[in-house]
Amino acid sequence: MAKEISIADFDVIVIGAGINGAGIARDAAMRGLKVLVLDKGDIGGGTSSWSTRLIHGGLRYLEHGELGLVRESLRERDCLLNIAPHLVRPLQILLPIYKHAHRGGWTIRAGMIAYDVLSFGKSLPRHRMLSVSETLRQAPGLNREDLLGAAVYFDAQVEFAERLVLENVLAAIEHGATVITYAHVERLLIENGKVCGVEYSVVQSPGFKKQDRVSRGQEGGLPPQRGCPAGDPGLAPALPLRAQRVATAPIVINAAGPWIDQVLMTSGADSSRLIGGTKGSHLVIAPFAGAPDSAIYVEAETDRRPFFIIPWNGNYLIGTTDIRYHGDLDRVRIEAEEIEYLLRETNRVIPTAQLNRAHILYTYSGVRPLPFVNDKEAQSITRKRFIRASPQRDNLFSIVGGKLTTYRSLAQETVDLILKRLGKNKPTCTTDQVALPGAMVQHEIVELPKLSEQTNHRFARIYGTRSSAVKKLISDDFSLGEIFDPETGAIAAEVVFAFKSEFAQTLSDCLLRRTMVGLNSTCGLDAVEAAAGIAQKHLGWSAHRVAQETAAYRNEISRRILR
Ligand SMILES: Cc1cc2nc3c(=O)[nH]c(=O)nc-3n(C[C@H](O)[C@H](O)[C@H](O)COP(=O)(O)OP(=O)(O)OC[C@H]3O[C@@H](n4cnc5c(N)ncnc54)[C@H](O)[C@@H]3O)c2cc1C
Repeated sequence: MAKEISIADFDVIVIGAGINGAGIARDAAMRGLKVLVLDKGDIGGGTSSWSTRLIHGGLRYLEHGELGLVRESLRERDCLLNIAPHLVRPLQILLPIYKHAHRGGWTIRAGMIAYDVLSFGKSLPRHRMLSVSETLRQAPGLNREDLLGAAVYFDAQVEFAERLVLENVLAAIEHGATVITYAHVERLLIENGKVCGVEYSVVQSPGFKKQDRVSRGQEGGLPPQRGCPAGDPGLAPALPLRAQRVATAPIVINAAGPWIDQVLMTSGADSSRLIGGTKGSHLVIAPFAGAPDSAIYVEAETDRRPFFIIPWNGNYLIGTTDIRYHGDLDRVRIEAEEIEYLLRETNRVIPTAQLNRAHILYTYSGVRPLPFVNDKEAQSITRKRFIRASPQRDNLFSIVGGKLTTYRSLAQETVDLILKRLGKNKPTCTTDQVALPGAMVQHEIVELPKLSEQTNHRFARIYGTRSSAVKKLISDDFSLGEIFDPETGAIAAEVVFAFKSEFAQTLSDCLLRRTMVGLNSTCGLDAVEAAAGIAQKHLGWSAHRVAQETAAYRNEISRRILR
């Protein structure tokens, strides 16, 4: 243990490859900085995987007078629709109006008008108000009692937020960033009151025993990948199980989401608490009687919070809750009361649904990295984000809050700050103009194999224009065209692509955050053996590794499946 290895100096080290860290890395690398990103798990494996998956202006923030945040969010929504149209798509939302609701017809109408005004010049259509009969034509399953009508408006949905994070990382790597996953920052290094780097350990990734790591390079025969220095987990030569390493840079960005305070505690200075996280949970349910065709945003009777029922990935995403959280950030799971709340409220809004626990395919929960405040109700804590300079440690900045929606503008502001601190000339930020990798135009020169309509459809939603790189694998080996998950139409080539070209280190990375098969109706359980078999055949995994990886996968998703 504790073998020290130093890696090259960087301009900036980013701790955390969630959406914020990934966005900052992309922007910084595009502006010519030498960037290192470290994450204790996989890319996008933290809070960024646990959201409602909306790219939204934040209609509800209007209630709290956060006009600036709404304006920024709406601008960013348009931007993401442009730079990532394969991942971020318009979503129609129906907002029913009920007689005794806290938010009456006039409040909703006023909110809609304000939303339209703030959206002025943006691409999505304006709101419409619907009569009762028009509302029921759109959503026949809605509870008719006391229904006064509805508002219809547009926001956007990022069906696979995990891939939005990944594509930011891929873009950062394309521009020279170094990204190391399963690398836990243990300590911030301080010299004369200034941060000067980090000490991190390369952690054992799930499913691995020492012998796997030692032999993995030979087993898989994978070349070191661009962006990962040779010697990093599983990609190249043997490593000690928990190699301690040091990386240096004059600036460190703590983008560890809800774990920010844990990272700060390692600097040896007293720092006041920055994060006051609230937990939010979602249910995933198969299409049910009365299920709407478009998303519904409706006030819950119990606590008057609005919640969503959203068509998502062939099923429905229902959520969320908003509860102060003080527990273990690495073991967040849904509680019985949250399940009961979401089922009860859904059954009230759509009486024919008659949902109970048996209808739940799986659940997921995460902790919003919101700013710490002592005495506010969870739902009224601001959703604004802050770049907090450490008062006692120069050049250490923590990202507090920040949504998927506003990650790009947050990154721009952060990189402006980094450049100022480094005293560098300021290249202009272009992240709002340049497409993410899956939206880049590809110039085909070879004819690519034809795939089924189902597979083509998923490729467009998951890989965008990167699909051609996946398809090219089939041109070399026809057997990679075989479907291994009939529900989604996922093919063997995707497993190979995830490991060879998208920095997956484990089967969980591959299924949950690359191929998205882990978000199918069985949470990937009906495909895990087949996927491991593909890795055995095409990536040279040993039988031992296959067993370890499938067990680790089952373990990782066990907290999503109700017993
Ligand atoms: C229930 C819920 C619903 C939401 N819905 C929406 C929505 O619809 N739209 C929207 O825009 N936003 C939504 N959000 C907010 C959004 O998801 C988060 O604010 C955002 O994903 C935070 O990203 P992040 O990069 O800051 O944190 P994370 O995604 O948590 O990333 C932090 C990373 O830091 C890593 N890390 C932690 N400690 C260390 C360490 N010591 N060393 C190395 N790495 C470390 C973690 O592994 C993690 O990958 C929602 C959030 C929740 C919880």
